[in-house]
Amino acid sequence: MSLVRPSRGSKLSGMIEIYRNANLARVGLLAERLKAEGIAVFLRNDHLSVSEAQIPSFYPAICVMNEADASTARKFLQVFLEEEKRPLGPDWQCSACGESVPDSMAVCWSCQAVRPTSAEEG
Ligand SMILES: [Zn+2]
Repeated sequence: MSLVRPSRGSKLSGMIEIYRNANLARVGLLAERLKAEGIAVFLRNDHLSVSEAQIPSFYPAICVMNEADASTARKFLQVFLEEEKRPLGPDWQCSACGESVPDSMAVCWSCQAVRPTSAEEG
């Protein structure tokens, strides 16, 4: 007998997943940073409901458009993730609006005032 099987998993060019995480905000942020580096990426599973998003295979993911970009994109991701591991200092207080702002931010998230120098601390 000869069964003709449709070939499943046919190559989807341009769907190379390079990062996956349950946290959509995080995935989106990393995707934006990759775009800023000139790498064409798109998000997959970025519109799922919370219940669907519990399933790891449905986690939001970053894919590269061009296979050739995959290795470069992964390198950038590594750098970004390393940066995140650096310990952060305490929050700083915005002198303009008084909000407390995470150490990782150079400007106030609330009023966009530039972070003051730490010289006046104490
Ligand atoms: Zn402020």
